[in-house]
Amino acid sequence: MPPQQSRHNVGIAAAKCESKPVRKLRLGIDLDGVVADFNDGWTTRYNRDFPDKLDRDLKAEDVVEWDAPTTLSHFPNMSAFWTWAETCAEGRSLFHGLDPYEGALDALHQLRGDGHHLVILTTKPHFSIHDTYDWLARHKIPSTEIHILDDKTQVDCDVYLDDANHNLAALTSAHPAAEVCRYVRPWNGPISGAVDVFDWVDFQSVVAQRST
Ligand SMILES: [Mg+2]
Repeated sequence: MPPQQSRHNVGIAAAKCESKPVRKLRLGIDLDGVVADFNDGWTTRYNRDFPDKLDRDLKAEDVVEWDAPTTLSHFPNMSAFWTWAETCAEGRSLFHGLDPYEGALDALHQLRGDGHHLVILTTKPHFSIHDTYDWLARHKIPSTEIHILDDKTQVDCDVYLDDANHNLAALTSAHPAAEVCRYVRPWNGPISGAVDVFDWVDFQSVVAQRST
């Protein structure tokens, strides 16, 4: 081994010895609105399937509130929306065809590479359960647990990441010792006790701080 490379490696080893121990954390990660782009998925397919219902195409950016299909589209209620969503992705459910947000997959792989446990906590209609497992597999999400459930407080984690106000409020109340992160989106608002993160880099910083 060349002397120069040897000195370099010794330097890295010394730095590792001096760094603080890193705790491996359980990270409770939501999918829709956080990892999977639900709004781009449904608006794109809505424009394709109902070109004559509105006087313009919908965009993901039009969504600024929860249950937006009832105000943006012709669907009179969410029940009608979900009936369409069950088969709108070429015969599969809407969730089958969603794209990941930019940066989400890289961040998840880095967090897993750091030794953290990725615990998927996602609420889905019953018809999309198999598509959800398929989506996680196709995108090679490095999760070590998957929970499809309504009440996310049932699963203990050290850090949570979610975009739904009702989940954030429930998690901060049920798990005051955990770090609950609000992925800031137009359809949510500040939650007492939750930390605001604006992107995946922000979230990784929160995890890094919590793990030292
Ligand atoms: Mg969500």
